[in-house]
Amino acid sequence: MDQKTAVVTGAARGIGLATTDLFLEMGWRVVMVDRDGAALEEAAGIRQSVTPLVRDVSVPEDVTAMTRDALAWAGRVDALVNNAGVAEFGPIEETDFAKWRRVMETNLDGVFLCSQALTPALKETRGAILNIASISGLRASTLRVAYGTSKAAVIQLTKQQAAELGEYGIRANCVCPGPVRTKLAMAVHTQEIIDAYHDAIPLNRYGSERELAEVITFLCSDKASYVTGQVLAADGGFDSTGVGLPALRGTSAPS
Ligand code: NAD
Repeated sequence: MDQKTAVVTGAARGIGLATTDLFLEMGWRVVMVDRDGAALEEAAGIRQSVTPLVRDVSVPEDVTAMTRDALAWAGRVDALVNNAGVAEFGPIEETDFAKWRRVMETNLDGVFLCSQALTPALKETRGAILNIASISGLRASTLRVAYGTSKAAVIQLTKQQAAELGEYGIRANCVCPGPVRTKLAMAVHTQEIIDAYHDAIPLNRYGSERELAEVITFLCSDKASYVTGQVLAADGGFDSTGVGLPALRGTSAPS
C-alpha cells in the first residue's frame, strides 16, 4: 500500500503508454485504462505492476466501474493522467453535430468524469491531476473547430480544478503536446501539415512520446509539489513563436 499508483487513460499506446512506462521506471504502479481492449491487453500483458481496465472514459457508468476497480486493485491513487483523446479534423461547415460530440465526449467529458470520480481518492493522497490538452487548445488553426475547442476547454477545466481542489492538497496541471508521431496524429496530419509544423517549430521537428512522458510524470511527482494550475506546452517552441520563423532560418537569417 506504500507504493504510489497512477491511473493513466488512453494507456494502450502513444503518449499514454510512454507515460505508463516512465511511471513504472519511477517505481509506481499503473492502472492502464483504454477502450481498445485488444491493444490494452497486449500492452499490459508484457508489463509488470500494471492492471488493464477496458473502459470508455466518456461513459459515466464505465468511469464509475473504472474507479471501483482501480481502488480495489491499488487501494490508493496518487495521480490521474487524463490522456485519452480523439482527433477528428474538418472545416466548420462539415463538422456535423455527431462529430462535434464524438470529440467533446472523450476529450472534455472524459476529463471531467474521471477527475470527479477519482477526487475522493486523490484527497486521501493529496495527489495530482494531469490533463493532456494540445497546442491546438492554445492557438487556433484551420480544421480544428471541435478538437481545438475541446482542448481549450480542458485548459480552463484544469484551472477550475486547481482553484477548487487546492484546499485538499490536490494539484491540477495541464500539458499541451506539440506534434508527436502517434497513431492519432498520423491519422490527421497530411504531408502538408507535417511540413507546416516543421516550419513553425523552432526545434524544427516532431516530439517523441518519451519527451512528453518526462514532462507529464514530472508534474505528477513530488518534484512539482508547489506547481498547480499551470499549462505547460511541450511543443518544441511552437506556442512561443510568431510569424516569419521560416523566413528567418538558414541563409536568409541576418548574421
Ligand atoms: P493515440 O491515438 O496514439 O492514443 C490514444 C489512446 O486513447 C488510444 O489507445 C485510444 O484507444 C484511447 N482512447 C481514445 N478515446 C478513448 C475513450 N473514450 N476511452 C478510453 N480510451 C480512449 O493518441 P496520442 O497521440 O498518444 O494522444 C494522447 C493525447 O495527447 C490525446 O489527448 C491527444 O489529443 C493529445 N495530443 C496528441 C498530439 C500528437 O501529436 N500525438 C498532439 C497534441 C495533443
